[in-house]
Amino acid sequence: MNIGVIGLGYVGLVTAVCLATQGHRVIGVDVAQATIDQLQNGKPPIYETGLAELLRQAQSGSVIRFTTDIAHAIKESTVLFVTVETSSLPDGSPDLSQVWEICDQLAIYGQAGQLVIIKSTVPVGTTDAFAERLSNNHHIQFLDVVHNPDFLQQGRAVDDFLSPDRIVVGYENESTIPLINELYHFNQTPIQFCRRTSAELINYAANAFLAMKISYINMFSQLCETFGADVADIAQSIGNDPHIAPHFLKAGIGYGGSCIAKDIHTLIQTARAEGVPLPLLEAADRVNAWQMTRFVERIEQRLDTLADKRIALFGLSCKPGTDDIREAPSLRFTEIALAKGARIVAHDPLVKAFPYPQVELFSDPYTCMQGADAIVILTDWPDFRAINWKRMCELPNEPLLFDGCNLFSIQEIKMLAGSCPLEYHSIGRPCVKTFESEKQVR
Ligand code: NAD
Repeated sequence: MNIGVIGLGYVGLVTAVCLATQGHRVIGVDVAQATIDQLQNGKPPIYETGLAELLRQAQSGSVIRFTTDIAHAIKESTVLFVTVETSSLPDGSPDLSQVWEICDQLAIYGQAGQLVIIKSTVPVGTTDAFAERLSNNHHIQFLDVVHNPDFLQQGRAVDDFLSPDRIVVGYENESTIPLINELYHFNQTPIQFCRRTSAELINYAANAFLAMKISYINMFSQLCETFGADVADIAQSIGNDPHIAPHFLKAGIGYGGSCIAKDIHTLIQTARAEGVPLPLLEAADRVNAWQMTRFVERIEQRLDTLADKRIALFGLSCKPGTDDIREAPSLRFTEIALAKGARIVAHDPLVKAFPYPQVELFSDPYTCMQGADAIVILTDWPDFRAINWKRMCELPNEPLLFDGCNLFSIQEIKMLAGSCPLEYHSIGRPCVKTFESEKQVR
């Protein structure tokens, strides 16, 4: 099948490369010349586990090409994916300008019988409006405009695309169904066909539910800190209930990223515009914001002040396994801590640029720790487990470790604290503290 993918970011590039390795011929298009140059040289401009290898495979088989020429890409394709960004405006409403731009390009260059698949996350009603705008501006009939929400998680997007737990397609025209089955022939996952508006809402409902789960356990983390309980015990027990399930029950500094955080804001805003209140989601979002504020305040209290304190951040990306920092917790932490006068340095395995020029980035974790008044973990990168944390104990200051992701178990920290003086704070769990003189673990 000849497939065009318009917008080669985290979703589009994974879609393009994976489809090219599954028997389709793909042409990927992006407005960014630098992106196309890099891809033509075999280098993905973003990091996703396994993506570079699959790109190499597709390029050596000549089943994928990249261009900035959208007219050419549209004319060459039977199926066209729309995978451009739908970011939030400052008031939380979605910015659909990139989606409408593509719609207008399709109206100019599209051909009869083509299938348009919107993979970008769009507010309910957008796919219908897209189809209507296309038919108003175009004299030839497209096969259909469908919404096929993307559930991939950054950091494991390739696996999620090739072996998804579900595929949802909101469609209008029955003739679309065989084409969609052929498109996704490479996996056994049943495809749920539904109304376009349902597909759009499914996307938001999924992310909003995960946001609620995260905020639910974070709400309990506050209670645990008050009563001296351990939130990990609570998460383990309720997660063993199959009605609840263990995923997204890890307490931490709250959700971020370009999906959950952005989507919940868009959903609240679009529902509010229609006069439909979503009190559960509004509460989840308030808990999320409060969780980070509380975390920074705990560090401030422990250090008496953040003014002129050197804070070493470990983890800037919104999740492990990606270099994406859009709406990452590290941005909010930095904003609050800088406003309180902190000096911030940071280390991340993949992120090499950060929008705050005051923040010095170190590729070496041990250099980053030097002179820190507090070390703060903001992303649960598995790489951080390989760091020799005992070296933290050689620092001149008494080492203070604030783990915003509960990366370590209390047991692991107690073992570390047995061999060096350490004070460890995490979310919803007791503080572990070794006193140099007594070598005592509380
Ligand atoms: P992104 O910003 O990484 O990628 C968008 C790409 O589109 C960029 O490379 C940009 O240069 C390109 N682009 C912009 N205008 C264009 C145009 N006119 N023609 C061609 N290319 C153009 O975005 P993303 O993270 O891949 O997200 C895309 C959509 O998928 C969003 O709606 C997002 O909400 C949704 N989504 C994202 C994820 C995720 O994990 N990132 C998961 C599920 C859904």
